[in-house]
Amino acid sequence: MSYKSDIEIAREAKKRPIQEIGAKLDIPSDHLLPYGHDKAKVSQEYINSVQGNADGKLILVTAINPTPAGEGKTTTTVGLGDGLNRIGKRAAICIREASLGPCFGMKGGAAGGGYAQVVPMEEMNLHFTGDFHAITSAHNLLSAMIDNHIYWGNELGIDERRVVWRRVLDMNDRALRDIVTSLGGVANGFPRQTGFDITVASEVMAILCLANDLSDLQRRLGDIIVAYTRAKEPITCRDIKADGAMTVLLKDATQPNLVQTLENNPAFVHGGPFANIAHGCNSVIATRTALKLADYVVTEAGFGADLGAEKFMNIKCRKAGLAPSVVVVVATVRAMKMNGGVAKADLGAENVNAVKAGCPNLGRHIENVKQFGVPVVVAINHFVTDTDAEVQAVKDYVAEMGSEAILCQHWEKGSEGTEALATRVAEIADKDESNFAPLYGDDLSLLEKVECVAKRIYRADEVLADQKIRNQLKEWEDAGYGNLPVCMAKTQYSFTTDPNRRGAPTGHSVPIREVRLSAGAGFVVVICGEIMTMPGLPRVPAAEAIMLNEAGQIEGLF
Ligand code: ADP
Ligand code: MG
Repeated sequence: MSYKSDIEIAREAKKRPIQEIGAKLDIPSDHLLPYGHDKAKVSQEYINSVQGNADGKLILVTAINPTPAGEGKTTTTVGLGDGLNRIGKRAAICIREASLGPCFGMKGGAAGGGYAQVVPMEEMNLHFTGDFHAITSAHNLLSAMIDNHIYWGNELGIDERRVVWRRVLDMNDRALRDIVTSLGGVANGFPRQTGFDITVASEVMAILCLANDLSDLQRRLGDIIVAYTRAKEPITCRDIKADGAMTVLLKDATQPNLVQTLENNPAFVHGGPFANIAHGCNSVIATRTALKLADYVVTEAGFGADLGAEKFMNIKCRKAGLAPSVVVVVATVRAMKMNGGVAKADLGAENVNAVKAGCPNLGRHIENVKQFGVPVVVAINHFVTDTDAEVQAVKDYVAEMGSEAILCQHWEKGSEGTEALATRVAEIADKDESNFAPLYGDDLSLLEKVECVAKRIYRADEVLADQKIRNQLKEWEDAGYGNLPVCMAKTQYSFTTDPNRRGAPTGHSVPIREVRLSAGAGFVVVICGEIMTMPGLPRVPAAEAIMLNEAGQIEGLF
């Protein structure tokens, strides 16, 4: 049997005008700012007007350590949202916008898959409503203004060797990781070494995703530390006087985007930090708005629960005062096999023993999520190649862990395939059994916070930090930033910093390579192992297969 590709299914979607989708959440059409017929931003004015509404229940979708293609978290988020609507609940989903980097690289789209997708998928995966372009522009405006300030006399006394604000681009481009700017003579300024990060790693992205409203956004932008003087005094974005113009560039981008699922249910798609090099969840504004308008809100945190869910809880929920009622951990039989040592090429063949061998990875994620005081359900995202015996092996393992696993077939069947999961998740959420608390208090030292995550989530023995890094953390603590949470940057493929160590390893060390203060976003980025804040393209990038067909339709997005 052959299956349609994601883009073929998306093309056949029977989309409703976006006003009808908004009406499902009682959003009046004059508060939807349309971008075409099938996308709209929800006006800030309307968002302000619903602040008195009671909050719905928040459901987080996370996963085991992924295989290179992803485990179907977005697919399951969409499927669960549709499933809740199918059983008569008023539910909305909240996911992130797509970055062009992975889209043209190897991971594919970010709109879900099969019969659990958000549409219009092509636009969502490409320019969408322009939010990422706005973020890129705002970020680079600040970069330009810093170099310009230095060029025109450097009144603030910026130490050119200590400019920490880099540039960004929404592209995987390893050639720009480390560069020298201002070559070519006196008129071009003072040459200095710097580099580019991908837009999803920008502090501006994090700020947009964590800000409460426009004035909070501007305050946070102002707080960004861009450089230091020779005396190591921080220079902020406010000192450069860029915060006002950056806020202007971001004014529209702060309003959440509303689109629909294939089953015409409301989906907020807003913001998009990666979970391996940033905090990994959609915007606070979108999540809060959805909670005011729906009884159940299903949201996704990127990559495995060691990254996305950890930061969802320790950063987003802590900062925004949110608390999930239940967490769904997505597992797939093939990822269990991969964690159990099977090579990618051999994933098609039945291998119950490998499934069993890989299950401890799932088990650890279940334990980890429970440490936050939140009930857990496992969703087995069914692939048509999975055998009954393999599925049963996962169910048995999860039962032994004292949790439950529910088989889901939304990729193949849409909401029909998630009825059981939706029913169970709603039941748990309604019982209000969650006792959510972040894993560490604000008062631990920065290094203690890293150790807490490394030991309790990654199950490492130790954190390795050389004196330079310890001194830097100490300096930030002395400057009043010690109460911030840490934003871990680590490979998504393993609990360790080595992408090849699958399963549930112990006895490892977590080496800190670099630390960056994001004073505006309100966290300290801790870069561990070899992880890059500007990814590269693979040997055969997905871009090679992306093209327009004769009918003018986009081919090759998946
Ligand atoms: P994640 O959010 O975990 O990164 P996605 O939901 O984006 O993963 O899915 C990644 C890819 O895997 C998509 O192309 C999707 O179509 C595909 N996929 C997801 N679930 C299934 C499934 N059950 N069967 C086949 N393909 C799937
Ligand atoms: Mg996803």
